[in-house]
Amino acid sequence: MTDHRALSPAHLQAVEQIEAYGSHNYHPLPVVIESGSGAWLTDVDGNSYLDFLSAYSAVNFGHSNPALVKVAVEQLGKVSITSRAVYSATYGPFIEALAKLCGKDMVLPMNTGVEAVETSLKLARKWGYEVKGVPEDMANIIVMEGNFHGRTISVISFSDDEDATGSYGPFTPGFVKVPYGDLAAMEAAMDEHTVAILVEPIQGEAGVITPPADYLPGVRAIADRHNVLMIADEIQSGLGRTGTTFYCEQVGVIPDLYLLGKALGGGVVPVSAVVGNADILGLLKPGQHGSTFGGNPLAAAVGLAVVRLLETGEMQARSRELGAYLHGRLTGLLGHGVTEVRGIGLWAGVDIDPALGSARTICEAMLAKGVIAKDTHGSTIRMAPPLVITREELDLAVDALAECLAEARATTPELQLLH
Ligand SMILES: *Cc1c(COP(=O)(O)O)cnc(C)c1O
Repeated sequence: MTDHRALSPAHLQAVEQIEAYGSHNYHPLPVVIESGSGAWLTDVDGNSYLDFLSAYSAVNFGHSNPALVKVAVEQLGKVSITSRAVYSATYGPFIEALAKLCGKDMVLPMNTGVEAVETSLKLARKWGYEVKGVPEDMANIIVMEGNFHGRTISVISFSDDEDATGSYGPFTPGFVKVPYGDLAAMEAAMDEHTVAILVEPIQGEAGVITPPADYLPGVRAIADRHNVLMIADEIQSGLGRTGTTFYCEQVGVIPDLYLLGKALGGGVVPVSAVVGNADILGLLKPGQHGSTFGGNPLAAAVGLAVVRLLETGEMQARSRELGAYLHGRLTGLLGHGVTEVRGIGLWAGVDIDPALGSARTICEAMLAKGVIAKDTHGSTIRMAPPLVITREELDLAVDALAECLAEARATTPELQLLH
């Protein structure tokens, strides 16, 4: 498949420089982005691309969202970082609004998603020892096979992705892994020292694995029966991505702790949070946990603007309605190079027939047609366009995918013999 884009010296120089001086911990698509607006990104040569990744859902409300940029720029002119050594004027309104959006009492802000995860693990252990009465250092936390919760040592300690864990031991003990979607295995893994169940409502990195509707209610029931905390990592599934503020909502489940990140920063700054009730978050006393940047005035101003966007329900409705349309169109490609479509709202995991090549090859072909989508786990393309996208733009991207699949089929000799 030929790439018809004119790649300029500026593109080549940027790639060369990044490959020379940057650690090679990512394998980026061959595109050098210079600017973005709404659902579109523009490269250094002026080529436009429809963004079907949204920085892994960090940009749910579109690139350079005018409402969010305005708030950020205004706040930059006032004060951006204070540390929590003092109170700041934007912090209170942000955490009150976020707590209410979640229907909870308290917020603990951090910066990146993995910090919110780490924070929740600490909280769960503390709650286990101080409230549940688990003997010191004996707590265990139930986690799922195929999980993705971030990259710190403790969090990769319970990953089963060999790329993520190789050569990084020794690992943090205290986690028990069970298959995702298997309530019987979860029930069997519980013991008197279990303090929490950590679950992604939908497993994003694993390929947008969407569990049956009775799974999360089942997890909630097990957590209740055994007096353990249910921690929902909604860092990717939350904040409108699936058509509701939280995916848990759609299956009638209220977790004890929500973990939020990615879109909470509005695509402007990193903002994450643990949100729960005072019986858990209230256990922390000064000095017991913290972050220099967590809850800073800039992050709080942007975070509040994000909560305001979500309060109207408009983004969630877009995700629901356009998501149904997207899934309808993707389902139409089943048997035409697509073997399975998963997900809900403006979020899809699309499995590509391996006979047509890897998902990476298809993503590179889509890039050449002006669509940025990212592969995961060899044969899956994950799609997560900004929620501000239009139906016509969705058509452009799905048409591009259909063309790439047709071209791959036409250039695969074994398939030509069959047809
Ligand atoms: C991205 C992600 C994280 C980690 O967030 P970072 O900001 O990259 O640390 C954690 N959990 C889930 C479900 C995620 O998708």
